[in-house]
Amino acid sequence: MTTQDYIQLEEKYGAHNYHPLDVVIKEAKGVWVTDVDGKRYLDCLAAYSAVNQGHCHPKILEAFIEQAKKVTLTSRAFRNDKLPIFYKKLADMTGYEMSLPMNSGAEAVETAIKVSRRWGYDIKKIPENKAEIIVADGNFHGRTTTIVGFSTDPMSYRGFGPYAPGFVIAKYGDADDFRSKINENTSAILIEPIQGEGGIVIPPEGFLREVEQMCRENNVLFVCDEIQSGLGRSGRLFAFEYEGVHPDIVIIGKALSGGFYPVSAILSSRDILMVIKPGEHGSTFGGNPLAAAVAVKALEVIEEENLIQRSFELGEYFMSKLRAINNPHIKLVRGRGLWIGLVLDTKARPYCEMLKEEGILCKETHETIIRFAPPLVITKEEIDWAIEKIEKVFNALN
Ligand SMILES: *Cc1c(COP(=O)(O)O)cnc(C)c1O
Repeated sequence: MTTQDYIQLEEKYGAHNYHPLDVVIKEAKGVWVTDVDGKRYLDCLAAYSAVNQGHCHPKILEAFIEQAKKVTLTSRAFRNDKLPIFYKKLADMTGYEMSLPMNSGAEAVETAIKVSRRWGYDIKKIPENKAEIIVADGNFHGRTTTIVGFSTDPMSYRGFGPYAPGFVIAKYGDADDFRSKINENTSAILIEPIQGEGGIVIPPEGFLREVEQMCRENNVLFVCDEIQSGLGRSGRLFAFEYEGVHPDIVIIGKALSGGFYPVSAILSSRDILMVIKPGEHGSTFGGNPLAAAVAVKALEVIEEENLIQRSFELGEYFMSKLRAINNPHIKLVRGRGLWIGLVLDTKARPYCEMLKEEGILCKETHETIIRFAPPLVITKEEIDWAIEKIEKVFNALN
């Protein structure tokens, strides 16, 4: 079958809820993917940062296969011998006392919302059904009905109402606006420390510290969605570290499995997570032994291969090279670590299409922004190779 055969099949039988680039990948290793025609591409999206460790990382693959031979799913009706190790690894690596595992990122966000509300009622004593959570405009937290209800992007929310009440939207980066929306029924502020889908939007210096402070002053939980920004992508374990804050709840997913399996979790303190009692929240697959074994290895690889430091150093290098490209359509290069947004004054899609022809896969976000977020195992030489191609494309489309 040819590329066109696969595309036709997909378009005919699959829902059109995505508009992918016309490349049909059949294999991948590290930062490189290969399509059905045998053409190789440098992956500069890394599955929205789910493959920070590189595609099909050999050590994670081994953990995956070994565990799959033993036991994959017990449900949480019984215990398994991998979940406790996963909990311990998360605590040791992040400093958070406890965690609650789920599968997709959106489920972990839902979990954070439920824990925040329950904490609001049981600990803060908010009157029943009055709890409010303040979120940011331009947010992306997933695709469930509750979550899209507080999106400000019509693509995400239009036609999916009625929307769940209890969410208040404040202006991202504007601490005064957040402060003005707090009242005695506010249980949490939920934000991304850097907005990924929003286009790698970094809030003004001090914003996260101010949000943390208003949370402390008003007895409000500070919840950070680090599903995309976390686990090394930003050049720190967590992007919130750039401001030295300590959120009450941290949401992680994506790279938590290195791309092998959907694994997500929320991290928090014992005091907060103990508001959920047995039977009050869960998931058939959440915390299963296959997920736990894969996640432990995925976290170990981040440490063993020094991926956080790599991301920081190579990110600085990549950005400096991008900034040196002289092109009137490039308005701004911004980012943290190997998480870079190239902001254009024109549509980004044609550039992504042409970069694909040159052997680089990336995806536009918000029409005019190209995101470069390769697996963190990328080398300096591979970045140099990419820069050459990127320059070529910008010169051609000038
Ligand atoms: C990807 C993402 C999610 C949703 O994760 P899924 O696994 O796709 O449900 C939530 N928040 C942020 C910041 C994300 O980038």
